[in-house]
Amino acid sequence: MSRPPVRGDLSALEGYHSPQLDVEVRLNTNESPLPPPPEFIAELRDAVARIRWNRYPDRAATALREGLADRHGVDPGQVFVANGSNEVIQTLLLTFAGAGRRVLTFEPTYAMHSQIARTSGATVVTAERRSDFGLDQGAVTSKMDEVNPSVTFLCSPNNPTGTVDPPELVTEVVERSPGLVVVDEAYGEFAEWSALGLLGEEVPLVVTRTYSKVWSMAAMRLGYMIGPRWLVAELDKVVLPYHLDAVKQEAGLLALSHTAEMEARVAELVASRRLLESALNRMGVDVWPSQANFILFRPRRLPGGDVWRGLVDRSVLVRDCSSWPRLENCLRVTVGSRSENERFLSSLEEVLTS
Ligand SMILES: *Cc1c(COP(=O)(O)O)cnc(C)c1O
Repeated sequence: MSRPPVRGDLSALEGYHSPQLDVEVRLNTNESPLPPPPEFIAELRDAVARIRWNRYPDRAATALREGLADRHGVDPGQVFVANGSNEVIQTLLLTFAGAGRRVLTFEPTYAMHSQIARTSGATVVTAERRSDFGLDQGAVTSKMDEVNPSVTFLCSPNNPTGTVDPPELVTEVVERSPGLVVVDEAYGEFAEWSALGLLGEEVPLVVTRTYSKVWSMAAMRLGYMIGPRWLVAELDKVVLPYHLDAVKQEAGLLALSHTAEMEARVAELVASRRLLESALNRMGVDVWPSQANFILFRPRRLPGGDVWRGLVDRSVLVRDCSSWPRLENCLRVTVGSRSENERFLSSLEEVLTS
């Protein structure tokens, strides 16, 4: 017997890797250092006890969509919810990309955009960010004219650089786009502005968000998107029926009643990020200004891989981007709790001066 061949266009695919090591301070995957409030866990326990387990969940996730619509001041018909924003992105790409279509990304950026685009059968075209990781407006629009993408991804704040694309640029990209523009705002609540204000029924723009980072709910796998009503109706045709289970729908809605606590945690992380940034600047490493819950930095004198290893030896894990294209010697640190940040800084100081 022989193994059935994998789709030819997928044979070069490598899969997404985010290696975990057993360390005391884990600052490598941009999760929240804090769990959700204890009342939330208690409320969720009660809600789970009330679920009618023999029945399929509400296929339209009506209450959750209404809650999210309320939070963002939009119509519930503009909200699409899925198992993590990665499933939102997958559904978007199955609907708007696929074989024979092109998807445009600006690198370096979140690897899953191109990865999921490829699994949809689309051709990925990558364009370059500037060396400060911003986008050059003229270069972006001429690339769009050249490529004619069905889907263009922006990521703001951008993972792994932390940089934000300004409103004028996003507006221009949306106006010039021959297809759909997706702005991935996984870190949107940490940032100073959001593309949500640019949305409209006849505007080819969607904004994706997630519960994984700001809501301290990475374990839940819940994300959502806001966009035109007609577009959400198209996604509803493509996504699997009953994809969002009843527990998740309850949890997502309950979390929204703890928005004030979430916002307090976000404010604290933003303050900690500023402290980390100035400490890193004082240490003489290159730092890119971040509006997310992580910071990209580059040690000047030592190779990034050596610094990463030195940190691991001190039981501190950051993301090693040092061998990624366009990110030579760069490391990315997630903003953690105060004690985790201090531990990271003192370990880095040791590594850099040893
Ligand atoms: C973490 C992250 C996500 C989150 O994906 P989920 O599937 O919602 O956990 C999406 N986009 C970016 C840019 C991210 O960094």
